[in-house]
Amino acid sequence: MGDLFDKARGFTRARELQANGFYPYFRAISQSSANTVTIDGQELVMAGSNNYLGYTHDPRVLEAAEEAGRRLGAGCTGSRFLNGTLELHELLEQELAEFCQKEAALVFSTGFQTNLGTIASLVGRDDTVYLDKLDHASIIDGCRLSRGQVRRFEHNDAASLGRQIRNSDPETGKLLVVDGVFSMEGDLAALPELVPLCKQHGVRVLVDEAHAVGVMGEHGIGSSEELGVLEDVDLLVGTFSKSFSSIGGFVAGSEDVIHYVKHHARSLMFSASMPPYAVATVRKCLELIRTEPERRLRVRAIARRINRELMDMGFDTAGTDTPIVPVVTGSVERTFLFWKRLFEEGVFTNPVVPPAVPESSCLIRTSYMATHTDEHVEHVLEAFRKIGRELGMIEG
Ligand code: PMP
Repeated sequence: MGDLFDKARGFTRARELQANGFYPYFRAISQSSANTVTIDGQELVMAGSNNYLGYTHDPRVLEAAEEAGRRLGAGCTGSRFLNGTLELHELLEQELAEFCQKEAALVFSTGFQTNLGTIASLVGRDDTVYLDKLDHASIIDGCRLSRGQVRRFEHNDAASLGRQIRNSDPETGKLLVVDGVFSMEGDLAALPELVPLCKQHGVRVLVDEAHAVGVMGEHGIGSSEELGVLEDVDLLVGTFSKSFSSIGGFVAGSEDVIHYVKHHARSLMFSASMPPYAVATVRKCLELIRTEPERRLRVRAIARRINRELMDMGFDTAGTDTPIVPVVTGSVERTFLFWKRLFEEGVFTNPVVPPAVPESSCLIRTSYMATHTDEHVEHVLEAFRKIGRELGMIEG
């Protein structure tokens, strides 16, 4: 007789890595600051967080969070739909709509739930949704829940998208969903080519600005602003777990579509709402994003310097221009070894291995914060130089 749990007993890969000291996941942090973390008593430069603007430890943000907690309690204990809507949620929604230059916005409890609920409620059984092959898991799962036709095109390839659109029934409703900044690779979506193609064929456009909001574009609206297509993007999705220092997500678009999603998205209607301290954190971060553009300039300058210097050393970084700088390490073994050596040298990073990337193109994902000092940046660069030489990846 089959036992459902056989798969759990047969799963040994993680335990093997744990046994030989190469297990990079679920590392528990005991202390943190705006640019470092302490793990097992060792302080490391945090070069693997999505806290791009470094507001997580800002006293202004913490004060706003504390004030909301004292006034409204620790949690909402219910969904937005029933007992869990605060005036604070609605204020945040108005502020986000204005910030994104869209008519309305809707706040969810995570970015993942935002994609699930938005895509699954809008894409029906008879509709078609087009996905970039590197789109985030929450987008893929949203499409699975939608039960619409899912068509995937080659990464950032407008010709490949064009073929998929031409092969679809012209009568069905259509939606393109792409990451504005791809989470692992750090590159921008090819929106200047993809968006006009969609407009031409009546395909609605949703851009997931999770890694872009706060850091990309003149006002920090995201990649759609940076690439000059904001007006033609129908829906902007964002998360609060990166530049907004908290947890939660939002979708912004026209009033009628947001109203529809609000009354059909199951991940919104059947899950508890963002707690007061999180909403207050996000509202304060939004205010700071609007008033402190120097933060996004700083983080982008840091990432450009890292990119340039790593490339000069001989590393392959794919030349991104976002706060995410991936370093190609090749095989799975070398990637885990590189990650472990970085950790020993006091640098926290994230290894990216299959299924996130193909077997031979593993990478170390590094990401930067406006609060990194020049000394932190030099520490990271020195660690890469030392380990790159040790492993024979760079010369010198
Ligand atoms: N979209 C993208 C592109 C992401 O990278 C992530 C999280 N890494 C999410 C959505 C989900 O966001 P959250 O952490 O708020 O669930």
